[in-house]
Amino acid sequence: MHGRVPALPSDLLILISADEEPKTQQVDTLVARISAHSSDKPVAIVGIGGGTLLDLAKAVAIMINNKGSAADFQGWDLVRHKAVYHIGIPTLSGTGAEVSRTTVLLGPERKLGINSDHTPFDQVVLDPDLAIGVPKDQWFYTGMDCYIHCVESLNGGYINTFSKSYGEMALKLCEEVFLTDLDPEESREKLMMASWHGGMSIAYSQVGVAHALSYGLSYVMGTPHGLGNCLVFRHLEDFYPEGVRIFEQMRKKQGIALPQNVTRSCSESDFNTMTEVAYSMEPLWENALGEDWQSKISLDQIREIFTKI
Ligand code: ZN
Repeated sequence: MHGRVPALPSDLLILISADEEPKTQQVDTLVARISAHSSDKPVAIVGIGGGTLLDLAKAVAIMINNKGSAADFQGWDLVRHKAVYHIGIPTLSGTGAEVSRTTVLLGPERKLGINSDHTPFDQVVLDPDLAIGVPKDQWFYTGMDCYIHCVESLNGGYINTFSKSYGEMALKLCEEVFLTDLDPEESREKLMMASWHGGMSIAYSQVGVAHALSYGLSYVMGTPHGLGNCLVFRHLEDFYPEGVRIFEQMRKKQGIALPQNVTRSCSESDFNTMTEVAYSMEPLWENALGEDWQSKISLDQIREIFTKI
């Protein structure tokens, strides 16, 4: 990283752990810290890292110019004032956070994004060499986030020609990366572009069943997003038969063993919460199952999938 992204002595550099999913409270604390640093507003916020860091940078850039807590803006089109100029530099490929119209945050009541026209980065720097050294498991889980974005977008009712062209491109790139033997440099380049295209695809359509369930799981368990998607996706053959079949091929080809019995220690109330959080993701269900989605999925069915994880 040193030398590739220049900094000035007057820049405020904040190092943030990506061990936990980003939280609204964390955004509020960062905004307070940045505001206390100087009486002038920052000219730009630069997010460098994986999805967590990129989402935090987007949320902070919005909240510097909007009064209140980040939790007040979780939802769709609630942001009133333009964000501070913000730049994204991904060091991990797959989340699509570098291009998406959302910043997904864990709030006091739910895990939901700040979805708005002010959320996307003003500028993005894509340098595949910054993704050198990502541990293999994390590389796979995050790459599968991109693959699942494509499956959910292409199989959803919100699909349109714009999203389809990006989704098909990203799906093809994912299959090359995870099912063939590319050299490492080509693999990094292709996965970085897959992430971008997958993000573009969902920016104008929507994700689906896997993301709804994954949000519920990580709300209760704190499971990282990519891993959470993988854990739920393998149980979704009823919804995405072809997608799950190819996912399993990729997983075996890459020698990835997913954690087992993840929800074994969950209490009744944990299962209820994760089920309710998943069920509350209405646009995702509507995209996946249609306007009458409530007649096609029940709380019991969702809960049963969680017990298998
Ligand atoms: Zn995702």
